[in-house]
Amino acid sequence: MQHFYFDHNATSPVAPEVLRDLTDAMAEVYGNASSIHHFGQAAKRRLEAARRAVAERLGCTDREIVFTSGGTEADNLAVFGVARRPARSPRHVITTAVEHPAVLNACTQLEREGVEVTWLPVGLDGMVRVEDVRRALRPGTTLISIMHANNETGVLQPIEEIAVLARKAAAIFHCDGVQVGGRLPVNVRELGVDLYSISGHKFGAPKGVGALYVRKGIELAALLHGGHHERDRRAGTENVSGAGALGKAVSLEFDWGALGELRGRLESGILNRVPGTCVNGSSENRVPNTSNVRFEGVEGEAMVIALDLRGFAVSSGSACSSGAVEPSHVLLAMGLAPEEARSSVRFSLGPGNTVEQVDDLIEAVTASAAHLRRISPAVLSA
Ligand code: PLP
Repeated sequence: MQHFYFDHNATSPVAPEVLRDLTDAMAEVYGNASSIHHFGQAAKRRLEAARRAVAERLGCTDREIVFTSGGTEADNLAVFGVARRPARSPRHVITTAVEHPAVLNACTQLEREGVEVTWLPVGLDGMVRVEDVRRALRPGTTLISIMHANNETGVLQPIEEIAVLARKAAAIFHCDGVQVGGRLPVNVRELGVDLYSISGHKFGAPKGVGALYVRKGIELAALLHGGHHERDRRAGTENVSGAGALGKAVSLEFDWGALGELRGRLESGILNRVPGTCVNGSSENRVPNTSNVRFEGVEGEAMVIALDLRGFAVSSGSACSSGAVEPSHVLLAMGLAPEEARSSVRFSLGPGNTVEQVDDLIEAVTASAAHLRRISPAVLSA
């Protein structure tokens, strides 16, 4: 049976051009970028070319790019890097209840270390209110960390407006751009952010490489202590082939924006064919590849398994912990009841998806929802 991939927000396949580049680099450019000999300098050139490519894509200078091991490290470097700078107290951080665990759990750790964190709510549309950010700001606010697009719903936050507030309050503004950077056009200067995280495996580079944009003049406490790599901002021998792959992947021509039409076809197909369905979160203010759909009376996990058996990979935002399915913290924060959150499924599209796959997926979803409702305990006991 053929399997089709609709889970690009979890990760994306390595793009063929990137793979070629990566294997060539691993075979041939094996020097340590800190070495002064021929091999080291070849590695250094590749690393710096990648840095220029990433900087160009994000609209900043190459010196403002720090390569990391991925989105989680970029987020942690931003959050801890600001909060743990010496001699800055009182320390107050503003974030939201819908962040990815890479920011959420970093902020929880900060709370354990005595930092005060304000967790902003979101509306049913998944969006933070700018007014809430304004109210939460105070003279001791050192950091605001708010994501660009949510990984579960695709909902975009009003980053430019929040950046204006942050600048006025002299607070540093970090934006987790992992679901946007490298996919859609991003200009960090126009956004007005100070720190911006991206991760290669969301747009055709391999897992384990990412970057943090650090606006010139922003000082960060290092997470890793070692050599003087990355201008003392991230110690460790540079992942030259990974950074090269990131540089290649950001330069690929793919119109992620155009995926909106395919997403629209999928969404209207499901909403029209399957009764008791609706979209979670704002349907206007979203990245074009994501659709989070609620199926009344259907367990999201059961739908994921049913679709997998029919050859389609999708996801539910639920996390499995100690044998129980925990509803998504994002959907709960949006005001959904636990059973509503548990009956939601995320479809996230990417470069390999076609109209035919989408049409087949609609058929599979329709059949699976009907089947699961037939066999659900609620229906059986009724
Ligand atoms: N932030 C967001 C919004 C994400 O979606 C992810 C990954 O799913 C991350 C951060 C973490 O990135 P990585 O998997 O590269 O550590």
